[in-house]
Amino acid sequence: MKPVIVVHHHEITLKGENRPFFERQLLQNVKRSLARIVPSSAIRGGYGKFIIDVPAPELTNSIVDRLTKVFGLANICSGVRVEQDIGVISRTAEKLLENQEFHSIKVHTRRSDKRFPIGSMEVNARVGEYLCERFKVRANLTQPDETIYIEIVDGDAYVYLSKIQGPGGLPVGVSGKVVGLISAGFDSPVASWQLMKRGASVLFVHFHSMPYTSEHSVEQVRCIVEALTTYQFRSKLYLVPFAEVQNEIVLHTPSPLRVILYRRMMVRIGEHIARENNAEALVTGEAVGQVASQTLRNIRIINDVATLPILRPLSGMDKEETMAIAKKIGTYDISKEPYDDCCSYLAPRKPSTWAKREDVEAAESALHIPKLIELAINNMTYEVFTFPKIKHAEHAETSIV
Ligand code: ATP
Ligand code: MG
Repeated sequence: MKPVIVVHHHEITLKGENRPFFERQLLQNVKRSLARIVPSSAIRGGYGKFIIDVPAPELTNSIVDRLTKVFGLANICSGVRVEQDIGVISRTAEKLLENQEFHSIKVHTRRSDKRFPIGSMEVNARVGEYLCERFKVRANLTQPDETIYIEIVDGDAYVYLSKIQGPGGLPVGVSGKVVGLISAGFDSPVASWQLMKRGASVLFVHFHSMPYTSEHSVEQVRCIVEALTTYQFRSKLYLVPFAEVQNEIVLHTPSPLRVILYRRMMVRIGEHIARENNAEALVTGEAVGQVASQTLRNIRIINDVATLPILRPLSGMDKEETMAIAKKIGTYDISKEPYDDCCSYLAPRKPSTWAKREDVEAAESALHIPKLIELAINNMTYEVFTFPKIKHAEHAETSIV
């Protein structure tokens, strides 16, 4: 009886010709997520599933925990591998149920190895009968207290008691790269996470106004990126100095347009980084109508300077819905700390809620935009984050780009 974890693939089972590519990426992601607790030779592929030999039973919880963050997994089942023998399978199920409190049971068998002579319905019946007899319980196929899952595959049998729901989505890496404009707020980390869930690798870009704002808000963004890296295993965070850009905008343009002008600069600089890194799109945490710069009109005017798509996965969401996801993914507690980012620095008292394109363009004509972009780009730095952490890795690769 060997402890194993069986994970089933999610949507990729539908991906037709691309399936081998999706499966390879998913297998690689599972291996990366379990690095340093499970050797990669203990993780094997199978049709629509992977099987992980658990090196020591006490590691089970941490393995399951890590797997709940691997996009592309439908469910995670912790159980045992035994020989293909109906008696052994029945006694294994009995052992797994030993310490459970239950009155009814269901047995659910899948037999993909047709060399095993007993059909899955009959396995259900025979194991079910054995367990009902042993535990003096009833069979209940619709609402059982416990379900025993049996899989008969590739010369082995797997028996497990519960299926833990996986995170769904597509394996990170299959959809290409996006640039996530990230602040220490609640929204943008959730937006970036949603793109990871659809298989994109997110490259993070944060604009800061140091030395006018504190190092603290940058530190918060680092913590957020660290939390999100548990879903994509390696992240790059660009830190772009923005104070000069803001000072120029404040000095030369009408104050109600400031935030729109900041955002247009963020988009231009973000796009530059996207092109350098071969990313396909930008992603922001904007939600329609949430603040002045996020009215439909202002979103449209910010969008005007973009040549790549700007993805806004939160555009139709309420704040509460976003907060609920932030709690689930571990960024809520970081974002709830107060921070003084570049948007609080030099924020206008009365921001325009429905700007006119002519006014925005007239305001920008007072700025030397290519020079401002160059200044920011020449002074930006990046840091690399990994999960599991490699000692000193986060800041080791810091360099001027
Ligand atoms: P968040 O909670 O993500 O800060 P928000 O609702 O507070 O979003 P804004 O502050 O108006 O909205 O920002 C809109 C979007 O612009 C953010 O979701 C983020 O994608 C991007 N953004 C804002 N500030 C920064 C920043 N300092 N660096 C990078 N991107 C930013
Ligand atoms: Mg914000």
